[in-house]
Formats: sequence, structure tokens, C-alpha cells
Amino acid sequence: MKITEPAREIDVIYNTDVLVVGSGPGGLAAALGAARAGSEVTLLERFGCFGGNITAVGVEGFAWYRHDQTIDSEGVGIEFEERAKAAGASVAEPQSNSHAIDGEAFKWVADQLVMEAGITPMLHRMFVAPIMEGNAITGVIVESKAGREAILAKRVIDATGDADVAYRAGCPTVKQAKEDMIGTSVMFSMSGVNKQRFIDHVKADPHTYSDWAYGQWTIETTGKEDQMFSPFLRKPFEKAREAGLIPKHLDTISGTWGALYDTGDLTYLNLVHLLGFDGSDPEDLTRGEIEGRDQAMMAIEALKQFNPGCETAKLRNFGMTLGVRDTRKIDANYNMTEIDVREQATFDDSVGIFPEFIDGYGILILPTTGRYFQLPYRTLLPKGVDNLICAGRITGGDRVSHAATRNMMCCTVTGQGAGVAAALSVKRNESFGDLSVTALQTELKRQGVRLH
Ligand SMILES: Cc1cc2nc3c(=O)[nH]c(=O)nc-3n(C[C@H](O)[C@H](O)[C@H](O)COP(=O)(O)OP(=O)(O)OC[C@H]3O[C@@H](n4cnc5c(N)ncnc54)[C@H](O)[C@@H]3O)c2cc1C
Repeated sequence: MKITEPAREIDVIYNTDVLVVGSGPGGLAAALGAARAGSEVTLLERFGCFGGNITAVGVEGFAWYRHDQTIDSEGVGIEFEERAKAAGASVAEPQSNSHAIDGEAFKWVADQLVMEAGITPMLHRMFVAPIMEGNAITGVIVESKAGREAILAKRVIDATGDADVAYRAGCPTVKQAKEDMIGTSVMFSMSGVNKQRFIDHVKADPHTYSDWAYGQWTIETTGKEDQMFSPFLRKPFEKAREAGLIPKHLDTISGTWGALYDTGDLTYLNLVHLLGFDGSDPEDLTRGEIEGRDQAMMAIEALKQFNPGCETAKLRNFGMTLGVRDTRKIDANYNMTEIDVREQATFDDSVGIFPEFIDGYGILILPTTGRYFQLPYRTLLPKGVDNLICAGRITGGDRVSHAATRNMMCCTVTGQGAGVAAALSVKRNESFGDLSVTALQTELKRQGVRLH
């Protein structure tokens, strides 16, 4: 059955130069990039905090790939890490030369970054539809406790993680078949862990990246990753399955612990993996939240019974929403390829670099050798709609390229690129397609981005 939604008049509540929809690593970086390039910027977010997966899901491993030889991205992503560190909102990450960001405290850090940059903050408003004039997007319709409202904008940046704006504006998008999507996860944290006992046990029985392959999981590496330490937990869950605490078929319960604080908080527990869920389908999201929380509780009981240091620990919190890794991407003016990310691609219109770090679809390659690739401006540009640019994990590319570009630091690179492009597009009165790449790269360099 269908019904017709009646047409209605709604208030235009705001008119802005650059509107960023979504505030994850991509959107937050985009808003800062645009504001620092001199634009008047509004940052729209459906939840009550900025930060996207960092804060709403609790994905804290911001640069867990970084080793001595890694040549890393530069720009606003490094600033996120440094600001978190300066605010006491991070802790040394166990497998790398990096700090895990405290997802809770980063809510406050992100507020500070937004307010300092003079960005207009808009929380608790959800994008629901584009406003179009022919092929051009001229604003968005939002829903909130205040009802339905309109925001007009000269340029719109889609940083929703799901390409909501591009998709609804009519741009071509692509999505893996549900069974091929990278799994979704209910992330959670525990408190009351005996840190010394936990670490002593890790040292006595260390895991490596080769442990990622077992049961139904396979992992392709270059070989150099295999014997490197990974903060991985598998054995307690095997014991729990043998003891009947976890059903035998749930061999997907295992994974990484992220950060361990002196206070006994064990956070960013990436132990629940739900396969065959589409994060752009609310039915799957509902099922994923409920099944995921149930599996997380089983995992906690297994850790209490079978992992030294966790005996008296308890659930601290679930991520406030299901963690979704893989939904729609745009079919961009240039779609990145597997060869680009594996073979150090270079581009004349580069907006930044990212190390050779590939994690997803059964591949793990760590950037331990100094190899890196560049990201072209064209990979941010959707087809068929003017005044719209994209940032974060929705930019154009094939499966394997996304296993690299979906990573949060890389999302800040495409975010800052999109933000600066939007600001300059308004200032210079040039369309995204005609924007001067020299002007874009000059401003990105001025903002501290490494382009080549
Ligand atoms: C469980 C899990 C573990 C991961 N582990 C790692 C890791 O260790 N390291 C790593 O680098 N990456 C990791 N990733 C991947 C990484 O977190 C994402 O790819 C990255 O956060 C994507 O950034 P983004 O800005 O594109 O989108 P997101 O971080 O998803 O942010 C999108 C934002 O847009 C908002 N939004 C969405 N739709 C709307 C709408 N209609 N209206 C208004 N706002 C909207 C959302 O609320 C959100 O704040 C992990 C992902 C998951 C789910």
C-alpha cells in the first residue's frame, strides 16, 4: 500500500555558503577546511555530538596502522589526534606509534574545534531531502523535534557515510551485495579490568595478525604483517564456545581490544561482527542493534570467565549506534582502483596522501615500509548534480580501494579537500568541475596538507 504525502510550506531557517551534512572524520575535516579557507560554514548532524563513528560508535583506533617507517597524511587529521592528546582525551595505542582517541571525550574536543573555527553548529537535525533547481542542489530539507525545515546553501558537502544526499539528489551510487559488505559491529567498552593482570596475560600469550584468519575468516597480507603483534582476542571465546556459553555457530565473536586505561577501562572492543546487514536498511539496523548487543553481552561473560584481568569487569557502555562500515559510495568523476592503493598512485589533482594501509574485504596490509598513495580531487565529485561534493567513506572507488580510503585518517584527507574546494568554489564563483586545481592545492598546502 502507498499513500501520498501532501505538499506543504516550510520555513527556511538558515542560509549558508557551505553546508556540511554529517560530522564524522570526513565532515568535521570538511567543515574545518572550508571555514579556514574563509567560508561561512554550517555543520549539520543528526545526533547530539560531532565526530561520527569516533564518538557515536566508539571507533577509537584513529592511526593504529602507524609504524616507524610510515609516511602519514598531514593536515587536520593529525590535528584531531594532537588536540585529543593535549586534552587528555587519548591513550597510547597498543600496536602502533599512535594514540587511540577517547571517543567520549572527543565529543567535547570536536565541539571546541567547531566553535573555535566559527562554524555554525546544527545538532539533532537529520537531512531528509535535497532542494533542487534543475541539476543543481541549492539546499536541504531537515527533520527534527521542530518538524520539517529548509536550509539553503551555495555548496553542499555530503559526508553522511551513506551518500544520503548524493543518492537522494539523483547521483549514481553503488553498493556491494549485502552478503559481500564488510560486517557491522556493536562496539562496546568495559570498566573494572585489572590492567596489570590483563597485560601480563597478553605478554604471556601474545596474538599476531595471522590470528585474524580462522573459522570462516581469511586474511591476505604481504607476509610481513603475519608475525607482528595484534591486540587480538580469540582464545577466551573458543573456550566459551566449548563451555556452551556462546553458541557454536557464533565463531564471528572475536577481534581486537583497542585501548586500556590505568582506570581499568578497556575500550573500543571490536568483538562482534554481524555479516549480511545493510546499514542503509532500517530493518537491518534494528536487527543489528538487538543481535549485536546480545552478542556483546555473551562476549563480556566469556571475557569474565576466561580472560585473566577481566574477572570482575563489567559493561561500561555500548556505542550509541550500530557501527556501519560499508554502504553506498558515489560513482565519481574518477573512481579509485585497487592498483592505485596498492601501487602508490600519483595524481596531478592530488588533495592529499594516505599510507599504504588496506584493511577490509579480507585484506590487511600495514604501511611499514613508507609506501603511500595520493588521492585525486575528481574522486570527490559525484556525477549529474552541480554544487555537490562528497567526503569520507563514500568517495568513488572499487572494493579494495575502499578498504584503504574508508579509514578515518583518509576520510579527513578527502574531507579537508572537499571543504577547501567548496569554500574556493563559492569565493571564486567557479563550479566544482571548473575549479582551479592550482588554487585548491595552494590553499590545502597553506592549511598544512601534504599533497605529494
Ligand atoms: C565498528 C567499526 C570499526 C572501525 N574501525 C576502524 C579503525 O580502527 N580505524 C579506522 O581508521 N577506521 C575504522 N572504521 C572505519 C571508519 O570509522 C569509517 O569508515 C569512518 O568513520 C567514515 O567516516 P565518515 O566521516 O565518512 O562517516 P561517519 O564516521 O560514519 O560519519 C557520518 C556522520 O554523518 C551523520 N549522518 C548520517 N546521515 C545523516 C543524515 N541523514 N542527516 C544528518 N547527519 C547524518 C552521522 O550521524 C555521522 O555523524 C571502523 C568502522 C566501524 C563501523
